[in-house]
Amino acid sequence: MAISIQNVSKKFGNQMALSNVSLEVPPAQVLGLLGPNGAGKSTLMRLISGYFPATDGTVSVCGFDVLGQPMEARSCVGYLPEHNPIHTDMYVREYLEYTAGLHGIKDVSAAVSSMIEKVGLTPESHKLIGQLSKGYRQRVGIAQALIHDPKVLILDEPTSGLDPIQLVDIRELIREVGRDRTVILSTHIMQEVEEVCDRVVLIHQGAIVADGALSAFASKPGGLESAFQELKLP
Ligand code: ADP
Repeated sequence: MAISIQNVSKKFGNQMALSNVSLEVPPAQVLGLLGPNGAGKSTLMRLISGYFPATDGTVSVCGFDVLGQPMEARSCVGYLPEHNPIHTDMYVREYLEYTAGLHGIKDVSAAVSSMIEKVGLTPESHKLIGQLSKGYRQRVGIAQALIHDPKVLILDEPTSGLDPIQLVDIRELIREVGRDRTVILSTHIMQEVEEVCDRVVLIHQGAIVADGALSAFASKPGGLESAFQELKLP
């Protein structure tokens, strides 16, 4: 499995953000994590990326335990955090060279040039990140997550705040990079899942409440929309 999550719980003080979650994700699957605000999506993604440890249970990526083998696990994962906190005072190329250096990539210049092309940043690559539109900033965020060619890509609300044209472009980019790697993306927009994902996991109050192929949801009465609406009921 590309990602294996077993009986994972995460507590913040008395607050149970995730409760006994188990999830297996095979290679080259694009999985949409769908749920209302506060459901636990970001927490689950942070656990996979090694940002903080689980209170209980185990998480492994590409066979490496994120706590026991953190370096190996991290080398397999690219992570775009929510709100994409990248350095607005750095140039696009400068920032990507910096992140490539952090990953110990040997030919930094070649890796950055190829990534700039891959994510469609060529016309903007000479600019300061602070001068870019939100859509291009997201491309920089995706580029930094992909620079070490990870098998697993974690994207936390990658299209939030984008205008309709940027949204189409970023979704297309996600589909493309998801052809040969495992992607987990979180969203609260159903349409996004329908357009990009192979599999849907609905999460609510820290627990997985539905999990299946997109086609399985689509064939039910009311489709994915009715499953999602049920989550919003008290
Ligand atoms: P989502 O991404 O689905 O909106 P989160 O994973 O961000 O949900 O949050 C799940 C729950 O955990 C929420 O109730 C949130 O307030 C809480 N939470 C998340 N991160 C922290 C933190 N660092 N400290 C305290 N509570 C947190």
